[in-house]
Amino acid sequence: MKFGTYVFEPKKAEGFDFHLFRVKPEVGRRLPPVSDMYSNIAVFGDNVTARNHPDWISQSPLGPAWRTNDNFNVRWDILCHTQPEHRAEQLDYIEDVARHSPGIWLNSIHFADHGHCTCARCNELWKKSGLSWFEWRRKEVTDYIAQIRERVKNELVIGLLPDPVNSYERFGVNFDDLAPYADAFNIVMFSKNYATPWYWEMLCRAFKKLLKKPVYVSFYVFGPGDNPAEVPAPSELVTLSVRAGRTGIDGILYLTDKASQIWDFQKAVVDRVELRQKLKTYGCQEVLDFFATWEKIVE
Ligand SMILES: [Zn+2]
Repeated sequence: MKFGTYVFEPKKAEGFDFHLFRVKPEVGRRLPPVSDMYSNIAVFGDNVTARNHPDWISQSPLGPAWRTNDNFNVRWDILCHTQPEHRAEQLDYIEDVARHSPGIWLNSIHFADHGHCTCARCNELWKKSGLSWFEWRRKEVTDYIAQIRERVKNELVIGLLPDPVNSYERFGVNFDDLAPYADAFNIVMFSKNYATPWYWEMLCRAFKKLLKKPVYVSFYVFGPGDNPAEVPAPSELVTLSVRAGRTGIDGILYLTDKASQIWDFQKAVVDRVELRQKLKTYGCQEVLDFFATWEKIVE
């Protein structure tokens, strides 16, 4: 297994195999990539572009994909997947960022959710395609990933939302279509608590079974502006990591706003001596050995 940080600033915390920097998160702000951290780019979830071009927002019978639309689990504004100017601009942007970093980890590569997008352009493209609605969406998503693959000469990792069953109907995502273009997949499993690891372990097993490329999962430690009382307990993350690790996944990333919060997390993990001892019978010594390497870092 490999272990990475997943951070909103271009700073590397010690004690990890690799680092992922949120160059362009879903809020849409952009920071310059750095040469020794992978670059994370959200493509269609993009609040800044949605604000500048409100007519580019994805449409549906249950309303547009503004983050205020409670019919969907949209945490940010999501653009129409076929908006040609945005697609072209993002291809150039991704190519440029790839040239200045070791590779690209993509988020938000698909349609907003079920029923999207019903704008006039999408309806016309769908009717012209001669395909069913679901198959047309699948083709749009796969074709755009193929175009991105042509622009990225180094590592390309495709981010997926944690729905192993309905990603085709909801997002137009077919896992087998995307596998040939991906060096790996990253399943974003963000939550403000992990009190019941059973569910996350099940999702890890499901994705490991379904995906034909290495599977990384990303866990939430401390997000921008978070109240320290409302983030996952370090003990939950320790147990979760071991239980995820034993499913055969290929790596884990830990998300924080700042690199210093990764250090806080490492300190807390090292301090959980009894818990780490207890987890020795859980069947994933590899994760426990990795946590033990932090003892030297936080001294
Ligand atoms: Zn559309």
